[in-house]
Amino acid sequence: MTNVIDGDAVAAEIRSDLEASVETLTDAGARPGLATVLMSDDPASETYVSMKQNDCEEVGIESVHVELDEDAPAEELYDTVEELNRDPDVHGILVQMPLVDQVDERRVLRTVAPEKDVDAFHPENVGRLVAGDARFKPCTPHGIQKLLEHEGVETEGAEAVVVGRSNIVGKPMANLFVQKGPFGNATTTVCHSRTADLAAHTREADIVVAAAGVPELIDGSMLKEGATVVDVGVNRVDADTEKGYELVGDVEFESAKEVAGTITPVPGGVGPMTRAMLLYNTVKAASRQEGVDVTLP
Ligand code: NDP
Repeated sequence: MTNVIDGDAVAAEIRSDLEASVETLTDAGARPGLATVLMSDDPASETYVSMKQNDCEEVGIESVHVELDEDAPAEELYDTVEELNRDPDVHGILVQMPLVDQVDERRVLRTVAPEKDVDAFHPENVGRLVAGDARFKPCTPHGIQKLLEHEGVETEGAEAVVVGRSNIVGKPMANLFVQKGPFGNATTTVCHSRTADLAAHTREADIVVAAAGVPELIDGSMLKEGATVVDVGVNRVDADTEKGYELVGDVEFESAKEVAGTITPVPGGVGPMTRAMLLYNTVKAASRQEGVDVTLP
């Protein structure tokens, strides 16, 4: 029997644990606050931001939302971030990506104060992660580590293949897998669009993390019997549905399920964990900045 991981259920457990920590902080006069900044009319970005606000509300985190006109000069965004850096009630800052053309993404990532950088994209936080001294772990790979922990999937000594080398998923995932310590210690291979023979790598893997953004790139024939398969991909493909599309992962679920020992579905796998880990990082940020110790899940 293949174990299909219920990411919604694991994320709900994490949120429930975080709620207690938020209460401790709030009782100490240090209610955690997350600022979301949106400078885009893109409906998907608007949806993501409103989901993050709802998540905050659910666990008692104060959410502050700043919306900028998508035609506004880039300086307005940089100034907004600087202002939030100075706001003592804001412990975490998230600037919703993708950014509009006039904005320099690298400048935005460098402007967020590292201690409020709950996405963990600031170069200082990236460096600390690589050095094995993470201040925050990026939400998606951290969520995947938590899923593996929850399901009792051992990474130590495992052959892990990460498909994708983006700064937000692939690279930090690989960096977490190679660290010494719990849910690291994996022998890690990173594949990408120039990998000569993807299947040759995935077939050897005990753990495959698929983060390529290519619908159903990996099917059952590319997997080792009993492998753990984590599907990060969220891809819209045309379908005969009310919306005219459906969401599929980077893994061809039906054939992969026949071979895998453990697998995450799309939706309901990694996505809810990413959202939960943003709350985790916000609580961690508040605890550090306010000097109030809390237990983190
Ligand atoms: P990017 O487009 O930034 O990166 C994709 C990576 O996949 C690149 O490194 C690319 O290689 C590699 N790639 C593309 N095609 C292939 C291929 N045929 N074979 C092997 N590697 C390939 O995407 P992201 O990392 O931002 O996101 C990946 C997917 O995960 C997307 O579907 C996204 O929507 C989803 N996502 C889901 C999240 C969640 O919480 N569930 C969170 C974040 C993302 P190269 O570098 O050579 O171009």
